[in-house]
Amino acid sequence: MPGSPKIPQYDAVVVGAGFAGMYMLYRLRKAGFSARVFEGGSGVGGTWYWNRYPGARCDVESMEYSYEFSEELQQEWEWTERYPAQPEILRYANYVADRFDLRKDIQFDTRITAATFDEGTDRWIVRTDEGAEVSARFVIMATGCLSSANTPALEGIEDFEGETFHTGRWPHERVDFTGKRVAVIGTGSSGIQAIPVIAEEAADLVVFQRTANYSVPARNKPLDPELQRSIKDRYADFRARNRLMPFAFGSNTPIGETSALDADPHELERDLEERWERGGFALLWGYGDFGTNRQANEKAASFVRRKIRHIVRDPAVAELLSPKQVIGCKRLCLDTNYFETFNQPNVHLVDVSEKKIERLTPQGLIAGGKRYEFDCIVFATGFDAMTGSLLKIDIKGKRGEALRDKWSAGPRTYLGLGVAGFPNLFTISGPGSPSVLTNMIVSIQQHVEWITDCLVHMRDHGYSRIEANERAEDEWVGHVNAVANTTLYPSCNSWYLGSNVPGKTRVFMPLVGFPPYVEKCNEVATKGYEGFTLERATGG
Ligand code: FAD
Ligand code: NAP
Repeated sequence: MPGSPKIPQYDAVVVGAGFAGMYMLYRLRKAGFSARVFEGGSGVGGTWYWNRYPGARCDVESMEYSYEFSEELQQEWEWTERYPAQPEILRYANYVADRFDLRKDIQFDTRITAATFDEGTDRWIVRTDEGAEVSARFVIMATGCLSSANTPALEGIEDFEGETFHTGRWPHERVDFTGKRVAVIGTGSSGIQAIPVIAEEAADLVVFQRTANYSVPARNKPLDPELQRSIKDRYADFRARNRLMPFAFGSNTPIGETSALDADPHELERDLEERWERGGFALLWGYGDFGTNRQANEKAASFVRRKIRHIVRDPAVAELLSPKQVIGCKRLCLDTNYFETFNQPNVHLVDVSEKKIERLTPQGLIAGGKRYEFDCIVFATGFDAMTGSLLKIDIKGKRGEALRDKWSAGPRTYLGLGVAGFPNLFTISGPGSPSVLTNMIVSIQQHVEWITDCLVHMRDHGYSRIEANERAEDEWVGHVNAVANTTLYPSCNSWYLGSNVPGKTRVFMPLVGFPPYVEKCNEVATKGYEGFTLERATGG
């Protein structure tokens, strides 16, 4: 029976054992709370456990994309490349799990299917896919922003006789494309990383592109041991400087604040050229209005389009690969030889922006009325981002209200941490927080630490319930939208807006700007969790 005292009782249930769930467990334990983590996969690492596609790699530098909570950990772990590849990040996640003995409180191969708030006891009843139930005062969703793979509902998908793959659900065994005819559908970050590596093996590779994307060379390379040493010598300071950056990383690269419209054209070109050669996101950091002014943005966009025309030999292919939207509006991609790959004789580009992929057939697919035959089809078609994994769980709050209903017109949160009507539920890197617009490990750490402090505060003051106020939530949603509308982000179709998933309401989900957000979270806590209502036990 739900709520029966016989079911296991915890202070907190954490859903997900990626970097968010692992650190949450560590903090909860350290603060003396009992906790159980449930993870659908068979191991830790989340994103880096599931996304094993060829070429999968982080595009935040390794010295920054790592935990800072333990000085010993950050000193002893040695990164090998400027940008770590998926196997190295997964090794790191496993190392952390072993080093802090996390596995004993993680139940793997277990999906959470439902969570129901019991108003009588101020506790959640959490149900697993095996029908087991546990009770917890708090539920902390560490379910990930990019963990719900999105495969388009194409007719005939079951009929295809070859192999299909999704980049976000890649098999654990090596997939050998040697001599195969391969299709890749999708040219977001995952496709752009996978295509050059698959092209090395495949006999023939056809890339189906719906929207051309901007990509900048990553310029990945072995990590200079001297650089690693010097950062480690002042790691706390290095991390602190990164936390002050708008995206919580990249403090080593200069950020300009002047307008690209006022810049001397030669100086602007020189700056972009230098940043292109250095590689990475900082291409867009030279001038303050690339992200806010269309004319300024066009200067960076046309620079990248010129680069594409310079790299790709066939002018028609170069034209197709040249994006039309604002640069940075969809997430900027980093690559290794992406555009160069289209010079290979075994690689072909098919534009499906207007002449769509119609259906799969037993031998391949039909697009724009033309039949193509393949041995393998790779879906690099992304994720139901930010809300997908949360809404797959049947979450019921006060008076049985379903989160799915509450969010039917887009997610509504206070600070991306709490939801009115859903007491004692926290979302790590939830919609309404900077999350996917930052170095996510930094955002994750900030959320985990804020949640832990909040739970300690509640314990110290004898509170059993915390709930975001409706009004604070309304104001916060308004704020997130208002900030987004000062930028060019809402100007194109992107997963930030949910426009990649048919039927999903178009709402800009993340908050732009990390430092002011942290300030706001700290202020809320200092003011006794302003905007939340805290109450003492009503029973149980
Ligand atoms: P995840 O790593 O997604 O972990 C969530 C876990 O929750 C998953 O293991 C999932 O199985 C589990 N889960 C979900 N629902 C349930 C359920 N109902 N029951 C049980 N378990 C559940 N970020 C950056 O900052 N820089 C990068 O360069 C970068 N590169 C990326 C590359 C790829 C290919 C992708 C997909 C994402 C990338 N990200 C990057 C974002 C990345 O998701 C975060 O950096 C970070 O790994 C998120 O950690 P997390 O723990 O919040 O979520
Ligand atoms: P994505 O950015 O959403 O890209 C999906 C691609 O599939 C898009 O090109 C999309 O076209 C296309 N697509 C979707 N449905 C289609 C259909 N029915 N027909 C044809 N094309 C279709 O997904 P992603 O590449 O997996 O990346 C998601 C996010 O994960 C990234 O933005 C990033 O945050 C993270 N990531 C990071 C890295 C990294 O470098 N560190 C690597 C991978 C992922 P449209 O653009 O037209 O929708």
